[in-house]
Amino acid sequence: MLEEIKQEEFEKELKENENLVLDFYSTECPPCEALAPKFESLTELYGKDVRFIKMFRQGNRELAEKLGVKSSPTLLFYKNGKQTGDFLTGGIRKSDIIRNLDNLLPPEKVQSIKDKIKRVVTHTDVIVLGAGPGGMAAGIYLAQAKIDTILLDTGMPGGQVTTTHQVSNYPGFIEPQKGYMLSHYMAEQAKVAGVKFKVAVDVNTVDLIKKEVVIDGYETIKAKKIIISTGASPRYLNIDGEKEFYGKGISYCATCDAKYYHDKEVVIIGGGNTAVEESEFISKFASKITMIQQLPHLTANKTAQERCYADPKIEVMLEYEPRGFYKNGSDKMKVKLEDLKTRQTKTLETDGIFVFVGMKPNTDMIKDPLETDDWGYIKVDDEMRTSIHGVYAVGDVISKKYRQITTAVGDGTIASIACTKEIND
Ligand SMILES: Cc1cc2nc3c(=O)[nH]c(=O)nc-3n(C[C@H](O)[C@H](O)[C@H](O)COP(=O)(O)OP(=O)(O)OC[C@H]3O[C@@H](n4cnc5c(N)ncnc54)[C@H](O)[C@@H]3O)c2cc1C
Repeated sequence: MLEEIKQEEFEKELKENENLVLDFYSTECPPCEALAPKFESLTELYGKDVRFIKMFRQGNRELAEKLGVKSSPTLLFYKNGKQTGDFLTGGIRKSDIIRNLDNLLPPEKVQSIKDKIKRVVTHTDVIVLGAGPGGMAAGIYLAQAKIDTILLDTGMPGGQVTTTHQVSNYPGFIEPQKGYMLSHYMAEQAKVAGVKFKVAVDVNTVDLIKKEVVIDGYETIKAKKIIISTGASPRYLNIDGEKEFYGKGISYCATCDAKYYHDKEVVIIGGGNTAVEESEFISKFASKITMIQQLPHLTANKTAQERCYADPKIEVMLEYEPRGFYKNGSDKMKVKLEDLKTRQTKTLETDGIFVFVGMKPNTDMIKDPLETDDWGYIKVDDEMRTSIHGVYAVGDVISKKYRQITTAVGDGTIASIACTKEIND
């Protein structure tokens, strides 16, 4: 059984239980809400062999700090009184918890637990795959039209908006909105409308022909229609050191990481809208920014360029391309650059690197033959129908010219109205 304890009781729990998992949670914490049902269902499955406990983080700060817990939810695993396995935090996936629980137990025990897992089949009218603005707008319209809708996301709701510092061009707000707050409003509105969220799930298979999606390894969701709203992700440079130093000096998200570069020097790779707009935000923290652009000019819009060139902290290096990232014993990152005019290389030393070189559609989970453009973006008609009957696509994942929150929301609106009509006809 899952039990709530106070920090004073923790040592006793550690002594008395060979296997233990501890959940630090908070209130008004969407990822904690997403974790709660997963944690409880695993308690039923593993509860005889592993002790499941939870602790309110704000009420037990001293222990949380001692254990290095800085955000909620955080799951910690213990074997014979010693911490083991992963330090899971944020949008925690069920498969990650299961992997860590399995590691606490002998293989035959794990097998007997797996044998007990019941496969579940859930029926709904529409599966919306991806809870960014496009998917959430579709969900709101569908639920308000009394169409049973399940909204799935491999992360938490909000998509790219969650990692956007400020949004000033979404109608309805006089002041710029923090991206994560705008996402929160959208998700709450969708919940109130009646959308059923399943977030931070593993999407194992997507069968667009049968309209079936398997999540978390055991639940098959069957629907009449599917709306794909999986958005886009940052494109990688695919050069030496990029994977190795990802999260250890290389970042793709200013909102998430700029705060770590207070009074430090950073390099930005890219010269388009995102690179230039994010440089403005990073400039609030960093002491110096060097922007590397392969073309002879920046490609961001004129106003953003003007602000960038007027910022004394920003130096723009045109016609340079990064060739590799590395470290030389110190904490500093090194960027090897090629001067495209002279073909000579030079090395910059910096505290951190931000890469903003474009996006790619999130379509890896799709195995069915879906018509796409040359860059892999899904082709749709003017009602957001894809080449597969009963499957729609909206937002940044589709082939179109302008990718914004408003355009994603517009696509979601169109798809949901078209979809509702098809279901009701
Ligand atoms: C740094 C930055 C700043 C921006 N600033 C602005 C701005 O100021 N104004 C503006 O209008 N636009 C801005 N944009 C663009 C805007 O955020 C996007 O156009 C918009 O979020 C697209 O919405 P979407 O719903 O199509 O996809 P996304 O926002 O990309 O959301 C897709 C969702 O799908 C989920 N997903 C991915 N794969 C799967 C899968 N296999 N199964 C289930 N779920 C999956 C993801 O976790 C994500 O939650 C910005 C983008 C960035 C990166």
